[in-house]
Amino acid sequence: MYKKIVVLTGAGISQESGLKTFRGSDGLWEGHRIEEVASPVGFENDPLMVWDFYNQRRRQLLCDEVDYNNAHKSLAEFEKNFCGDFLLVTQNVDDLHERSGSQNVLHMHGELLKARCLDTSRVYDWTEDLGEKTSHPDFPEKVGRLRPHIVWFGEMPLHMDKISQALKQCDLFISIGTSAQVYPAAGFVSMTSRSCHRVELNLEDTPSSMIFDETHRGLATEVVSNYFKDLLS
Ligand code: NAD
Repeated sequence: MYKKIVVLTGAGISQESGLKTFRGSDGLWEGHRIEEVASPVGFENDPLMVWDFYNQRRRQLLCDEVDYNNAHKSLAEFEKNFCGDFLLVTQNVDDLHERSGSQNVLHMHGELLKARCLDTSRVYDWTEDLGEKTSHPDFPEKVGRLRPHIVWFGEMPLHMDKISQALKQCDLFISIGTSAQVYPAAGFVSMTSRSCHRVELNLEDTPSSMIFDETHRGLATEVVSNYFKDLLS
């Protein structure tokens, strides 16, 4: 039985919850080029458009139609029943893992339901729209100084020390619904030890599929549930 498990999730696990992935067939995120909406330069060039993009993503995440699915739930249930160390690292900026009951979750690319002060870098829980007229929770006279708490291309992902350590020590690494094209997450499989068993669960092959010891193809709601049910039995 495995003792230390690290799971990495990407946009594919939330696709059946109604949230579009980034690398669909068109290579766009909800119709936008990634450099426009997910880079510091994009924000400098057109802050209104970038605020609005994430306002729409946040509203969509909070609408009644979007909720966790069977794959999120299977991970949360596995964590509850597993006796060893379990770390869930997600590239997703939604909160569907937390909603389904997952406890030990690290959001390496930030969170839609948080905002960050451009001056102090302090992070705030946030469910409203952000924009040029948004007043600051600590300094109400200051307006328009909050940005989405999202790690954009060229910025340092969060929690990397903790993640690197867990990857080196784990005996099972499972990558779910990620295209293996965004670094450093795409390199996590190669950071695990030689004795670590590596599993990829995805709808289709990725550029990293050959590195894995085991791969399962299919919808996350099916393959993730089946895989984790077997792992506990
Ligand atoms: P990606 O969009 O690049 O790749 C998605 C992967 O999921 C693909 O390999 C695809 O084959 C697979 N997939 C799609 N539907 C699936 C399903 N139903 N079941 C199983 N697999 C499925 O995603 P990424 O690798 O996570 O990189 C995208 C970046 O964009 C991330 O950094 C993330 O922060 C951001 N993003 C986040 C969300 C979210 O939070 N839900 C959504 C879109 C983009």
